Amino acid sequence: MKKVLVLAETKNGKLRNVSLEVLTVAGKIANGGEINACIFGSDGEKFREELAKFGAQKIYLVENAELNRYTPDGFKQALLKVIEEVQPEVVLTGHTSVGKDLLPRVAVRLNAALISDCIDVEVGEKIIFTRPIYSGKAFQKKEVTNGIVMATIRPNNIEAKENQAAGETFKILAELKDLRTMVKDIVKKTSGKVDLSEAKIIVAGGRGVKSAEGFKPLQELADVLGGAVGASRAACDAGYCDYSLQIGQTGKVVTPDLYIACGISGAIQHLAGMSSSKVIVAINKDPEANIFHIADYGIVGDLFEVVPLLTEEFKKV
Ligand code: FAD
Repeated sequence: MKKVLVLAETKNGKLRNVSLEVLTVAGKIANGGEINACIFGSDGEKFREELAKFGAQKIYLVENAELNRYTPDGFKQALLKVIEEVQPEVVLTGHTSVGKDLLPRVAVRLNAALISDCIDVEVGEKIIFTRPIYSGKAFQKKEVTNGIVMATIRPNNIEAKENQAAGETFKILAELKDLRTMVKDIVKKTSGKVDLSEAKIIVAGGRGVKSAEGFKPLQELADVLGGAVGASRAACDAGYCDYSLQIGQTGKVVTPDLYIACGISGAIQHLAGMSSSKVIVAINKDPEANIFHIADYGIVGDLFEVVPLLTEEFKKV
């Protein structure tokens, strides 16, 4: 039985899906112990019900308008305060841009072990975290033998399960000192309707898409499927789309239910970001393209013929 603390994140006024997935992981690790959640910012209270529905027994609110947007100093101070109050044995959050930046800062302050980008957790006599290494070519199993454990969990990898709990709320006052950075505004570069890192369906384009105009049929297919558009680095480098769409070793890591790769050869650096997708469909005119080695379904053909046909068929469903 363990005492677990989850840092929940919000985006655009909603709880991030990954936070609910992390609560499910917390339930598994707690194994009958205590599941705590914390949330920062002035409107944490409104997420109480949802956090409780997914297993949060106690919810710690750090209500401070300066925490409405992520700042490394502010979130670090707030999380350290909650940890001091809760005294958890395990601290979890999503492997998001916030999680990736924040947890190492907090772990180093507490001299705690940090395991990042976990995709599975086995709970028995020991707690074993699994994480991909070498761009997803191998998996590492890690156990922390002493002290507090901190881990980030890869989004879209573990199904969030409802597990109604009391969701008793507690307010924590965190006096934020010497904030060195403040985010004044966030200007969105892309107008994608679906968040790429949490999308269940991704239609990704590579150099084979040939131009920014060439991405239009991919966007249409993504819209019909309720998904998001992604890209290979070659497509971003060529200026066909924004770097915020890049998937891979130096881009975003995604785990959608369905990944449709259009005109992407399947370089190892691209596979690092998408090979754990549940179903992979590759459309490529080269039957020898490496992407076919990891694809569940392969279509050898011209993407400019195949993608509009798929869009028409999905429109009928
Ligand atoms: P290509 O390899 O040029 O493939 C284009 C494909 O399109 C070909 O297979 C071709 O047959 C097909 N095609 C062409 N026309 C059509 C058509 N009409 N219909 C159907 N198919 C067609 N890459 C990433 O993606 N993400 C990363 O994060 C990343 N990080 C990197 C980090 C480092 C340190 C390095 C060195 C490289 C990185 N790369 C990354 C680059 C990577 O090595 C590849 O160069 C890149 O992934 C290739 O992109 P691509 O598949 O779109 O292009």
